[in-house]
Amino acid sequence: MSIDTSQEEMEMRGGQGSRVSNTAALTAYKPIEGKGAVQPPVVDASTFAFSGVEEGQLAFGCAYGLGRVMKELDPDGTRKAEPIYARLSTSSMSTVESMMKAIEPGADWAFLGPAGMSCATMLVVTACHQKLDTGNPGLGMIRRDIVLYSHPVYGGTHALMEKVAPRFGFRAVAVDMRNLEAVRDAIKEFGGRIGLVYCETPANPTMAMVDIRAIADLLQDMYGDESRPVFAIDNTFAGIFQHPLLLGADVCLYSGTKYLGGHSDLIAGFLVGRTGKMCAIKSFDQGVVSVPFEMAILAHRTVMGFTPSSEMAHKLFTHMQTYILRMRKQAENATAIAEWLATHEKVARVYFPTLLEGTDAELYRKQMSGPSAMIAFELKDKSEKAVTVFLDSLKVVLLAVSLGFVRSLAEHPRTMTHSDITVEEQEKMGITGGLIRLSIGLEEPEDIMADLDQALAKV
Ligand code: PLP
Repeated sequence: MSIDTSQEEMEMRGGQGSRVSNTAALTAYKPIEGKGAVQPPVVDASTFAFSGVEEGQLAFGCAYGLGRVMKELDPDGTRKAEPIYARLSTSSMSTVESMMKAIEPGADWAFLGPAGMSCATMLVVTACHQKLDTGNPGLGMIRRDIVLYSHPVYGGTHALMEKVAPRFGFRAVAVDMRNLEAVRDAIKEFGGRIGLVYCETPANPTMAMVDIRAIADLLQDMYGDESRPVFAIDNTFAGIFQHPLLLGADVCLYSGTKYLGGHSDLIAGFLVGRTGKMCAIKSFDQGVVSVPFEMAILAHRTVMGFTPSSEMAHKLFTHMQTYILRMRKQAENATAIAEWLATHEKVARVYFPTLLEGTDAELYRKQMSGPSAMIAFELKDKSEKAVTVFLDSLKVVLLAVSLGFVRSLAEHPRTMTHSDITVEEQEKMGITGGLIRLSIGLEEPEDIMADLDQALAKV
């Protein structure tokens, strides 16, 4: 099977700029920006000298969105703000952000965070808020304190939603988003209080897929453009093979630790989005105002200190130069391995996009241009002993969590990544005792098959 089979179709659907392009990724940085250096220099200063007092004031006016300062110092909006302080941004950060923007079809902006989880946190606290007095008699008090999220999701996201968000007065409501009626019912119940609709597809670890376009259309129908909640997709698993911004999502979240980094030597996260979504925030000089969502994200990154280091941004930039090629090859390897596993006598079931049937298979063809490189499979023998013997017998595949690494990894979701979730909930999500998750790397696929085969033979 060729990878990227429906690329043409995706292009037709998304129009211009919908293709993932390695050339666009590699040419996003221009050596002239780094005084000719072909790799961008690492900026390791924490503070920056202004060329004059007015330049310093303008930089702050710009960073804090101070209308009065901007009007006075930059009435035509033509002056370039100078850098201030590394918690706001550095050129190492903006360089990798430009590259991410060039990679994600439909993106107008991209912001780097120190981890995927800090990006998820920023999404919740930016899209949702407690009662805010708008000071506008027409609008009065507004409240958006509910997150609607899909399940299953990554264990850390589940903990953020269920354990942390409620401590800040937010309520997270889990919905099976494959069931559009369930989403419709939740919207009817919570209406204007939903600030964020957060969906992970394909889901970790079962590869369950949600129809992104259908959810976007439902939100549009039920709310209209103005009052629609922010619609975010965790695109970590799908990477280059799914373009949520072209399917109606406002924002994509990535754990940059995974395929983007690809070398298991850094922790990072990205929020990448389209312009157009507005969001109510408290401004320093104007009370509650409505600002573009990305401006609010940036303001929150700065004041909450969710700023990555320049060293990490630089390392991520270097690894992302091969991101698209790595993912294509990893998906090709995973396809061969998943198809082989599906025929193995010790394996009860394989979860992999190309092996889906019925409406799930249709959704895969409609929504993704390739399967990515995550496989989940169930052993016929679901006992703890069988799982332990299998995982302990692997020699080439590493027994480790995380994913997207150049080396193949195996883990046991029930007792590792998703162990924080009760067994009853795990069962509902399809996380059985015999389920193993694989992240396929760049080894020769026949060597991975031989390794899995010898470990399966011991079960
Ligand atoms: N989203 C998914 C699907 C993940 O698998 C993970 C981590 O495993 C995260 C988000 C969180 O990312 P990070 O570990 O970079 O904080």
